[in-house]
Amino acid sequence: MLEKREFYINGEWVTPSEARDHQVIDPSTEEPCAVVSLANEADVNKAVAAAKAAWPDWAATPPEERIALVEKFYQIYKSKAEELAQAITSEMGAPIDLSRAAQVGAGIGHTKAFLAAAKDFQWIKPLGDHAPDTMIVHEPVGVCALITPWNWPMNQISLKVIAAAIAGCTMVLKPSEESPINAMIFAEAMDEAGFPKGVFNLINGDGAVTGNALTGHPDVDMVSFTGSTRAGAIISKNAADSVKRVHLELGGKGANIVFADADDKAVKRGVIQMMNNSGQSCNAPSRMLVEKSIYDEAVETAAKTAEIIAVGDSHEEGRHIGPVVNEAQWNKIQGLIQKGIDEGARLVAGGLGRPDGMNRGYYVKPTIFADVNNDMTIAREEIFGPVLTMIPFENEAEAIEIANDTVYGLTNYVQTQDGAKANRVALKLRSGMVEMNGNPRGAGAPFGGMKQSGNGREAGVWGIEDFLEVKAIGGWS
Ligand code: NAD
Repeated sequence: MLEKREFYINGEWVTPSEARDHQVIDPSTEEPCAVVSLANEADVNKAVAAAKAAWPDWAATPPEERIALVEKFYQIYKSKAEELAQAITSEMGAPIDLSRAAQVGAGIGHTKAFLAAAKDFQWIKPLGDHAPDTMIVHEPVGVCALITPWNWPMNQISLKVIAAAIAGCTMVLKPSEESPINAMIFAEAMDEAGFPKGVFNLINGDGAVTGNALTGHPDVDMVSFTGSTRAGAIISKNAADSVKRVHLELGGKGANIVFADADDKAVKRGVIQMMNNSGQSCNAPSRMLVEKSIYDEAVETAAKTAEIIAVGDSHEEGRHIGPVVNEAQWNKIQGLIQKGIDEGARLVAGGLGRPDGMNRGYYVKPTIFADVNNDMTIAREEIFGPVLTMIPFENEAEAIEIANDTVYGLTNYVQTQDGAKANRVALKLRSGMVEMNGNPRGAGAPFGGMKQSGNGREAGVWGIEDFLEVKAIGGWS
């Protein structure tokens, strides 16, 4: 078994100050695949001190030099793609093809988009013709705590680390304890790229001890967090005493509005998108709202689509979905499926238990519930598993009302061949992102949510700005 107990602090791999071993379990096999250490408060203090000491020089380094280092890192990152994909598959169970193309692919893609955005960024610019002597200056926020989840680990780590580095911030990354190994490979690439000591630090750890010490640390200026709404609220409170900037990317319960005039692939596409990564995506289209005139046909298509989605060992190549991340998540999903049945939703595909013939691994059957009412638990809670709820609607106004009737506001989806209607509906949806007719947002578009899905935006120029202070200087000559 892989043993990787060190943390990356001040440009070197160091031994933790206390033995707090943590086993990483491969969800396809239920066997441990690695052991790492969990940082205690002393380790957190050491990592924050390194980031603090490195900050003045890094902040003063010209942006072109910071960008050049990221460019170097980008080449090394690409060369480690296969190693990263294998680690992700073992740690969190994404099928290897998905790990290669999407999991690692997204991280590399964001890095490329950041490099493009950074080259055009105006670090100092005049306010405008009406105030020619007022200059707007962008400065790094300072020492950042970056806390990430396990579901799209390279994606989330890249969104934070690369943006912070370009902005001139120094940082301590704490990846999820479920998926620490890919983050350590990422750290090896940062090391090879030659960032100055202390600019980037990595500690592994849990939320209760490590995360808590990091997000309450007086020398941390900003926390950038991606994870559950539950943990986001705790972190906000913890960071409040020292008035840190807190960026939150949290949960979702996306609606996918399928109008009667949608293209004939819309329902199938929605099911496949929902099941991708075994439903473990914050922006999963987990509530399919279907116009009544095509509802019965849509339910039939969705059930048939779910039944032919293969579930299989993540280490094997080919098109299938893998397990969910761990036993606790498997149990939670089973509980929610049972709740759906108990509350009167109609189960049309999948259901309780593992798929036939699978006795090991945290595998869940691709599951579809029809006749769901938006008040049911399965329509309100983020399930984070391959479970789709289908809700009928009468007209455009009702579809918008149901879509917005949630505490979340991350991504919604619209399917119609009427362009004017698509745009009209998109503008009324309370979410940070809307995708229409299977068209994804462009690379470098802002990513983030409204309401309890969080605040701030990641990716592209918005992602860099998130790590910057804006200073206004009057009397510039
Ligand atoms: P989680 O909140 O349990 O953990 C996320 C990270 O926070 C981990 O590193 C964990 O160790 C840490 N953490 C937990 N409690 C903490 C605390 N009290 N203080 C400091 N750190 C703490 O979430 P998860 O299960 O890893 O990820 C799934 C969740 O993440 C889902 O809700 C999903 O929607 C959300 N997510 C959101 C986005 C987005 O961009 N909006 C992207 C991916 C995942």
